[in-house]
Amino acid sequence: MVIKPFQGNSIANIFPILITRMEVDKDVMYYYVSVEKGEAGERRFSELLKGLSENCLVLHDILLEHNNTLFQIDTLIITQRVIYLFEVKNFQGDYHLESGNWYTKSGKEVQNPLLQLKRCESLFRQYLQKYGFNLPVKGAIIFVNSEFTLYQAPVELPAIFPTQLNHFINQVKSNSAKLEKIHYNLAEKLINSHINENPFDNLPDYKYDHLKKGIDCDSCKSLKTFLKERTVVCGSCGHKEIVDSAVIRNIKQFKLLFPNEKVTVSIIHDWCSVIQSKKTIRRIIQNHYTLQGYGRSAHYVER
Ligand SMILES: [Zn+2]
Repeated sequence: MVIKPFQGNSIANIFPILITRMEVDKDVMYYYVSVEKGEAGERRFSELLKGLSENCLVLHDILLEHNNTLFQIDTLIITQRVIYLFEVKNFQGDYHLESGNWYTKSGKEVQNPLLQLKRCESLFRQYLQKYGFNLPVKGAIIFVNSEFTLYQAPVELPAIFPTQLNHFINQVKSNSAKLEKIHYNLAEKLINSHINENPFDNLPDYKYDHLKKGIDCDSCKSLKTFLKERTVVCGSCGHKEIVDSAVIRNIKQFKLLFPNEKVTVSIIHDWCSVIQSKKTIRRIIQNHYTLQGYGRSAHYVER
């Protein structure tokens, strides 16, 4: 039974909007691609766990603090016998181990997932001890990508490879027994201790004035769009979108990037710069949003 579903990091929603409207350097881009890839892996694993019974409490993406140290658990399964703690990896392609270090086929060293797992496991054990939950923990690295191969993997490596995943989940299913109060208490404690991360901490700095204005193409994300009657047409790929839906989509992007800014006709007119008529912007906003406040403080909120 999933009690804390996988939601993913909201930077994965904000980042694509941002890169359409500003130049970002390679490192930032690389970071974003790796976040997205990791999330895809976690999502895949979370799908596989959906069928587990009420005797298995599944929690995804828990950020905890112990002794001023933050640690993130990708997935936990609380069962009657043991708590499984998983580090989920979406590695793809050929990897090999050399003196305990992990390398890709091209020889690039990657962050050692075993060290990540051990650190997380140790902090989690201390956390359990601190709050009086005397329960055994078993950690494992989950490799979800079927195109992943690890050469020279020692047998004792606490890992579950793609070909073993289904078997492992079936094993958890058949081994699960009725949970006790302590298990539910722990699940509740974890949900209450979970720290909501501020997604803006991990984004490159951006300011409204520095971002490119315009309406992005819903298909290829290009800002080379223009208005033709009541349609926004993409100059890059030719995609067409009704102007109303394009403006609403771009207001939503504006709100994601600037959650504290108010939606007004003049700011949205500036944001969606390809639409010259303020009247058109006003009509679309009035059709979908509700006016709040008067005079200078007047702005629109979602219905
Ligand atoms: Zn396009």
